[in-house]
Amino acid sequence: MSLRRRLLLGLLAISAVLVLTNFTLADRFRSVLLERVDRQLADTASRDVFRLEGRRLRRATGAPPTAQDETLSEYFIAVGDPSVGTLVQLSSALADEDQPPPRLARARIAAHLTGRGEPALPFSVPAQSGSGTWRIVAVAEGRGGVTVVGLSLDELESTLDRLRLVQVLGTLAVLATVGLVSWWMLRLGVHPIEDMARAAGSIAQGDLSGRVDHPGGRTEVGRLGTALNAMLERIQEAFRARQASEAKVRRFAADASHELRTPLTSIMGYAELWRSGGLREPSELDDAMRRMEQEAKRMAALVEDLLLLARLDQDRAPERAPVRLDEIVADAVRDAQVVEPDRPIDSASAAVVVEGDEGQLRQVAANLLANARVHTPPGTPVHVVVAADGGVARLTVADEGPGMSPEVAANVFERFFRADPSRARAGGGTGLGLAIVEAVVSGHGGATRVESELGAGSRFIVELPVAQPAETAGLA
Ligand code: ADP
Repeated sequence: MSLRRRLLLGLLAISAVLVLTNFTLADRFRSVLLERVDRQLADTASRDVFRLEGRRLRRATGAPPTAQDETLSEYFIAVGDPSVGTLVQLSSALADEDQPPPRLARARIAAHLTGRGEPALPFSVPAQSGSGTWRIVAVAEGRGGVTVVGLSLDELESTLDRLRLVQVLGTLAVLATVGLVSWWMLRLGVHPIEDMARAAGSIAQGDLSGRVDHPGGRTEVGRLGTALNAMLERIQEAFRARQASEAKVRRFAADASHELRTPLTSIMGYAELWRSGGLREPSELDDAMRRMEQEAKRMAALVEDLLLLARLDQDRAPERAPVRLDEIVADAVRDAQVVEPDRPIDSASAAVVVEGDEGQLRQVAANLLANARVHTPPGTPVHVVVAADGGVARLTVADEGPGMSPEVAANVFERFFRADPSRARAGGGTGLGLAIVEAVVSGHGGATRVESELGAGSRFIVELPVAQPAETAGLA
């Protein structure tokens, strides 16, 4: 059942209970008032017997009416013997012309007649004319005599009519208020929820860019809407990230295949040339074999790098052991100088311990120094610095080479990115060197960046968290 229907049913039930309570109360009130009238009548009827003297009311004892009798003026009093003749009306209620006397049928009097001292049997009769009602008590006086005492119920009925009017108006007012409140509640609470359900439904059809409209603020509906939109935002973000990562994987696979195809094509070309008898001279054959070996080495290096990257992607948490960063960088500088003795490389290092995988960190230093060698003219100076500052270990490899444009600098850490593919490939680079640096460093909780300007050299900066003192124990 919908929330709206439940709310309406609840309100209807409350209204029904309200109306029922009102009617029960009115009924009960009437009974109480009637009981009081009955008691008054029984009381009056059980007092002295009255008789008529001329037009005057007299007590049966012959005494003139007392001040107390005057209060009887509102009563209808009649005496007589109903079986032989009409009753004689005594009371002053007679004098009131607006108050027509009761229509007294003998049979009804006889049916409700009680003896003096017995509990009275009050009954109601209509007035002789008009719409009034009387409450009557009849008491037997012995020797066939009867005293009939009556009280008009007109006032009681008009009081009750007024009460009923107040009740009806009150009930209507309460119902109108309840109606207004429920309309307001529906407008404030249920309508926005319905709108949100509709919007959410269309979003569920696949339109992730949709958002639900909601009143905002601190209402439950507002908070629900805000949460729903935040959730959608995150789902959309996750979806975008997944799409981007799928595209990246596809591009990576395509790039890797492309990179492998180039050396394969040239190896196959030399093999073809040899099979078709194109390599007759031993020197030609030597040259072809040397080129084939070169290409095979390039492929091996590429596969090696691909494997390393795949491992880094898979397992982002490297082995954790204290490593002296300055020492492994010093080793890499020595290696670089062996490869190219003519290049001036100066290094300034402080003892810095980081935590991580030594093999991977050696590769970082080697790749940065190899780039400085490969992408700058021979003899270009290189400056290497290892330092620690505020819990951050910093390795800087700066060269005085040609530098990079901002567009190139922004992309150097991308896989297979090369500023000048033909030249870089000829130099044997795989285009994965800096991607590996980036993957290793971020796997170690660090960051990599490059500062470079065309003509002003490049500066690669690797930052890693310094190992905690407890972890460096016994190393320094
Ligand atoms: P590779 O060196 O195998 O081409 P890298 O990922 O190591 O691949 O480098 C990507 C590109 O960044 C290089 O092709 C080159 O264009 C540029 N690059 C890297 N290091 C330097 C440097 N020290 N000076 C100028 N350009 C550089």
